[in-house]
Amino acid sequence: MNKIYYTKPSIGEREAEYVLDAVRNGWGEHCYDYITRFERDFAAYLGVPHAMATSSCTGALHLGLRALDIGPGDEVILADINWVASAAPVFYVGATPVLVDVLEDSWCLDPAAVERAITPKTRAIIAVHLYGNLAALAELQALADAHGLALIEDAAEALGSEYRGRKAGSLSSFSVFSFHGTKVMTTGEGGMLVTRDETLLKRVQQLNNHGRAAGDMRQFWPSELGHKYKISNLQAALGCAQLEHLDEMVARKREIFAVYREALLPALPGAAMNPEAPGCSNSYWMPTLVLPEAQAEQRDHVLEAMRQVGIDARIFFQPLSQTPVFADLPAVNTPVSHGLARRAFNLPSYPELSRDDQQRVIEVILASLSA
Ligand SMILES: *Cc1c(COP(=O)(O)O)cnc(C)c1O
Repeated sequence: MNKIYYTKPSIGEREAEYVLDAVRNGWGEHCYDYITRFERDFAAYLGVPHAMATSSCTGALHLGLRALDIGPGDEVILADINWVASAAPVFYVGATPVLVDVLEDSWCLDPAAVERAITPKTRAIIAVHLYGNLAALAELQALADAHGLALIEDAAEALGSEYRGRKAGSLSSFSVFSFHGTKVMTTGEGGMLVTRDETLLKRVQQLNNHGRAAGDMRQFWPSELGHKYKISNLQAALGCAQLEHLDEMVARKREIFAVYREALLPALPGAAMNPEAPGCSNSYWMPTLVLPEAQAEQRDHVLEAMRQVGIDARIFFQPLSQTPVFADLPAVNTPVSHGLARRAFNLPSYPELSRDDQQRVIEVILASLSA
């Protein structure tokens, strides 16, 4: 039986053509052509004026936090249940991440918990749209406005999702995306920062150019200590091709999710999957099954059963507060995050996943769970 991966990029002829063109011709005065085009097309896709491509989402978030002058003594609020990449840049700038709980249905920030965590030191809220689900942006924006905070979207997992008619990642001070090989679209490694704020764009561009000021005629002259998180023209060529069929890939992921939902939820009373709140559209980066409490202890058994028949299975993220990275910070009380981490796992989803393979996944899950 063929192996079923939990995720796999969808690479067509167009990708090969653009990358070959970049590797053959994308040098000298053409060395930024695909990068410029990728940034322009990505911004247009989201409906925002500005985008800057980077070597990773982590790097994009680091640059954005620096551009907001967030640093030592400042606090940044984000959810406890997350991949560490959303929190690490807060440490990089010397600020303190404050971890709060999520909502049981969206798996994203609980606005009430965010409000309770706001102190005079709070500077920003990082709303991560987990597994394609949308964070409660209107409520979070209201809190940000009331307290003079920046709202940042980490939309790495929500490319193609929509919140009240607008694309995820187009609604906040700035947003970041990832094009790691596991994400909705890929450039191998890569990221993007998008913003409506031209001043912020100029700031992150300078920071990403080792602190060299635009228009400064002096060569090799950093005006400040910067960073270098640039994407290559080769990767951007891949990104341009991926963008051309992003809508199809998202549509396919939505179909795959619907098949899982229709097969699994009626058969598993009390289980939940990625929600789609009214007015939202979920691109379902990772279809995720949350088992009911009564079956929670069977989760790892299901994952093992999947592995034995060659199906990649992945546990839900871990509460970051439990990891050594947060060992020196005060303990937090995040029961919803802990519950999800015990009960949930991700299901394979990628555009080329066949109907038969998906059926295999469904059958293994149902067969290995006892009531
Ligand atoms: C993948 C991911 C990142 C990190 O992306 P990189 O491109 O690997 O730096 C950050 N945030 C979220 C929510 C992610 O899923």
